[in-house]
Amino acid sequence: MTVVAIDGPAGVGKSTVARRVAAQLAVPYLDTGSMYRAVAWQALEEGLDPADGKAMGRLIARLRFELRTRNDEAEVVVDGEIPGVRLRSPRVDVATSRVAVHPAVRSWLVAKQREFAAREGAVVEGRDIGTVVFPDTPHKFYLDAPLEVRAERRLRQLAGRECGDRGRLLSEMRARDERDIGRSASPLKRDETYKLIDTSTGDAEQVADRILRSVRAAATGS
Ligand code: C5P
Repeated sequence: MTVVAIDGPAGVGKSTVARRVAAQLAVPYLDTGSMYRAVAWQALEEGLDPADGKAMGRLIARLRFELRTRNDEAEVVVDGEIPGVRLRSPRVDVATSRVAVHPAVRSWLVAKQREFAAREGAVVEGRDIGTVVFPDTPHKFYLDAPLEVRAERRLRQLAGRECGDRGRLLSEMRARDERDIGRSASPLKRDETYKLIDTSTGDAEQVADRILRSVRAAATGS
């Protein structure tokens, strides 16, 4: 069973790449960020403070949370509702990195991630996939690019939606990276077991091809 871990900071192009790799390998794609986002979104809907660990613990204890597979992608369903594109706003971006610091939230979601990938393998993207969720997979990739390049990509994604200005997005993204790298529970980091890929040059197709070549080479032992 193949599990491919794709980690890296915000806006680095993980989703486009991971989707392509999953389609080529014919395994489902799991975006773990959407799971943390769903908890944050629900907290905001209920007027709860995402930074409050106790409140988040109570929230997950009563939340009905499902991962449904649709078109070979995991889709998050919260209390019977599909939050979909509502998970992608800058407001949810900020709240999510606050929710993601709580160990109880993380272990609850990590169990679901493992269960999902255990069925038929998966391409899994996030921040701690190769370090914590699937540390034994031989297929670990860390995508990286300078903050400015990532912010431009995110602005293009947000075009036409609640977006704010460029300067604000840049500083929110920097703060989110700092929280993801600096937290004590499963921080974003890479070790020598990862292959590092710079996504600031080359398009998603080239990055996906590189990953596919590496995964296939490992499978054939070449
Ligand atoms: O990948 P995405 O930008 O959607 O992730 C949103 C946030 O969710 C990240 O900034 C991070 O705080 C959190 N996250 C995490 N661990 C993961 C995936 C996402 O902490 N595996």
